Amino acid sequence: MSHTVWNFGAGPAMLPREVMEQAQAELLDWRGTGISVLEISHRTPEFEAMAAESERDLRALLRVPDDYHVLFLQGGATSQFAAVPLNLARPDQTADYVRTGHWSDKAIEDARRHCKVHVAAGEGVEKFTSIPEPKTWKLSRDPVYLYYTSNETLGGVEFPGTPDVGGVPLVSDMTSNFLTRPIDVAKHGVVYAGAQKNFGPSGFLVAIVRKDLAGHAQPATPRLYEYSVFAESQSLINTPPTFSWYMAGLIFKWIAKQGGVEGMDRNARRRSGKLYAAIDASGFYRNPVEPPFRSRMNVPFTLPDETLTGMFLKEAGAAGLFALKGHRAVGGIRASLYNAMPDAGVDALVDFMKDFQRRCG
Ligand code: PMP
Repeated sequence: MSHTVWNFGAGPAMLPREVMEQAQAELLDWRGTGISVLEISHRTPEFEAMAAESERDLRALLRVPDDYHVLFLQGGATSQFAAVPLNLARPDQTADYVRTGHWSDKAIEDARRHCKVHVAAGEGVEKFTSIPEPKTWKLSRDPVYLYYTSNETLGGVEFPGTPDVGGVPLVSDMTSNFLTRPIDVAKHGVVYAGAQKNFGPSGFLVAIVRKDLAGHAQPATPRLYEYSVFAESQSLINTPPTFSWYMAGLIFKWIAKQGGVEGMDRNARRRSGKLYAAIDASGFYRNPVEPPFRSRMNVPFTLPDETLTGMFLKEAGAAGLFALKGHRAVGGIRASLYNAMPDAGVDALVDFMKDFQRRCG
């Protein structure tokens, strides 16, 4: 497949070409209904069958235990910054948070409105280049949950695996690395992820919630934020983002065909490994994150100065390498390498980086 543009955007991000083509092919006549999936009611047997199938597929991909709900939600990952404390904590209870960067800070900010927050690690840190050993975390006396951001999309810092904190239920924002490796669901109370990076369009998200933790939401919790309401209605409490759900369903099947989350992990390691190797060997590009915590998904790097960064971005864009500008909060370059990014995209970026350094370094 010839490709003139590679999209390294952090999200909404590139989706698998094969899935886009399938969606295009069946856009006007979905499953023989004669109408589009964009036009069909979420109360039809066809849509309900698709919804149930997507849940089965996702459960199979992540081996979700039976005592967990799989919920399909809307409002983006940001909705969960409030939904998690509203569903899991009372205002007088304490939840522990691990600070690892921009997105954990956002979650902490919202949680403070709904319960007591204790920062168990990362307090006062300004530049996040690693994740402190869970053994060194200072948990509060009786936290209702411990919250961590499994991949910090801006800083490119990723948890190498599930942290071990004894019996405290873990809550994880997996927005930027969901479905990119196996996860130990049973150690978690809640896992959630926005779709726009690894499994679909923006605005849509999945939450996997341990059943005994649903049903105790704070009284003023909006129904649209209450896990038990979604669980009882098969996530059909109101009109869901039907097209996004359908796309996610196609991507779950695509991931299964590519070797499941184990296959996604192998691809992610190989892809990001090539880019980190090129950065480290260059003596020109620089990534500040300590190797064990380098993200397989988001690779931020800098050039020696701002002028070169500007030139790099301009020339990369002309060469078909899109959306490489680092987040406005950190600057520099960021290459996001999610599930749909083929090796050819990374190879093209690495070739361009070498050529740019030869000419301008
Ligand atoms: N958490 C993480 C780790 C993210 O990367 C993002 C978005 N980049 C969000 C939460 C917020 O997602 P949304 O824009 O869907 O609310």
